[in-house]
Amino acid sequence: MAAEKTEVRSKTGRALLVIDMLNDFLEEEGALFCGPASREIIPFVARKMKEAREAGEPVIFICDRHMPHDKEFEMFPPHCVAGTAGAGVTPELTHREGDLVIPKRRFSAFFGTDLDLHLRELGVREVVLVGVCTNICVLYTAADARMLGYDVTVHREGVASFDQEAHEFALKQMESVLGAKVV
Ligand code: ZN
Repeated sequence: MAAEKTEVRSKTGRALLVIDMLNDFLEEEGALFCGPASREIIPFVARKMKEAREAGEPVIFICDRHMPHDKEFEMFPPHCVAGTAGAGVTPELTHREGDLVIPKRRFSAFFGTDLDLHLRELGVREVVLVGVCTNICVLYTAADARMLGYDVTVHREGVASFDQEAHEFALKQMESVLGAKVV
């Protein structure tokens, strides 16, 4: 019996990774609000999602999703606990059937997940990153993507952090040390 075909290869070799655009990070009342800058990028991210879909590129939601007593909570207040509303993608970005969701428990979208396998199956060579926070999950996802040999593009207007200085540092680091394209 032939396996059911559930994934469509990227038409361009690119995929858009929408990182941690979740209620706990984007709502002022959220458990770990990333600041007003994180809300300001929502329209840009929505536009990039639309463009990617029109170009036949996969849109992949990378979602922090923790256990109730996750080790990470020794460093940060509890957030994005599995099954809570806070762990949901902000309603301002439309999920579509067929959009992949990759839950993660650590900063990097590659750590302990099957993202790399999905990207290979989708024929992806370049990942385009948008989301929060520039200096945490975006940075460490970019680092692992580069270590694995992917081309990486980061949209300056599509990433944000609660810490502007760290945001700028991370963009510089991704460009000059990781060899990402910051556009
Ligand atoms: Zn987390």
